[in-house]
Amino acid sequence: MNHSNATINLTAVARKLEPQGPAAVLQWAIAAYGSDLAVATGFGPEGIVNLHLASQIDPGVNVFYIETGLLFAETYTLRDQLQARLGVTIEAVYPELTLPQQAARHGSNLWQCDPDMCCFLRKVAPLRRYLAGKQAWVTGIRREQTPARAAAQVVEWDEANGLVKINPLAAWSAAQVWEHIRQHKLPVNLLHRHGYPSIGCRPCTRAVRPGEDPRAGRWAGFGKTECGLHAGNGRFPKGHKLPVGEGSV
Ligand code: SF4
Repeated sequence: MNHSNATINLTAVARKLEPQGPAAVLQWAIAAYGSDLAVATGFGPEGIVNLHLASQIDPGVNVFYIETGLLFAETYTLRDQLQARLGVTIEAVYPELTLPQQAARHGSNLWQCDPDMCCFLRKVAPLRRYLAGKQAWVTGIRREQTPARAAAQVVEWDEANGLVKINPLAAWSAAQVWEHIRQHKLPVNLLHRHGYPSIGCRPCTRAVRPGEDPRAGRWAGFGKTECGLHAGNGRFPKGHKLPVGEGSV
C-alpha cells in the first residue's frame, strides 16, 4: 500500500500517530512506504531501538548505515550483533571517494582542518545519493538531543533530502530509550561503558568528562554539533566547489 507523498497530510498523520508511540509510527511507515522506506542507523541507542521495533514489524525492512571508513571496531562488532539478533541485513552506504582518494584530492586528515567538508563528502553526499531512490526514511532523532532537533515531528517533510522523514522517537527521553534497551536486552556499543555517550567516526569522537554535555565528545574544539544529515545544514560547505562526479546533490 504505497502512498504518494503528495496525497499525505504529514502534519495530520504526525499529530495522530505521536500519542500512539514509536511502534505505531513505524507500523504506519512500513505499511505506507514498503520498499521505498529505509531505516537509518548510526548504531547509537536510538538507532538500535528503531531497528528492534522495525524488525519486529518486518525483518526484511531496508536498513542502512553510512560507511565512512572511519568507524570504531566496537561499532562493527555491534553491527554484526544486531544483524544476528534481529535478523536484519544492515546495508553499508559508501562515499564516492575512498579515504586515499579523499586524501589525494583534499589533503590527508581532512577532518582536522575542515570537518564540514569531510562530513559532506563522507556522510551527506552518500546519504543524498542513497535516499534519492526512496520516498521516506527513519531516523533516531529526539527533540531533547539538540536545539536544532527541538521541533522534530514523528512524521515530517525533509526539505534537505527531498523525502518524508520519520522520527519515531522524537518525543522520547534518553531514559525511555535506555529502558527499552534494558527491557529487551538489546546489544549496545561497548564504548558507552568507557565514557562515550555519542559515537561517530574515530577521529571526531572522544570520551566526555562527568557533567559534560553528552554530545561534547563529538567534533570537540570545532563548535560543530551536527554532521549535516539532519539539521538541513548539509549544503556544500561555503567556499568549496563540488568537483565533477563527486557527490552531486
Ligand atoms: S565525523 Fe569526522 S571523520 Fe567522520 S565524516 Fe565527519 S569530519 Fe569526517
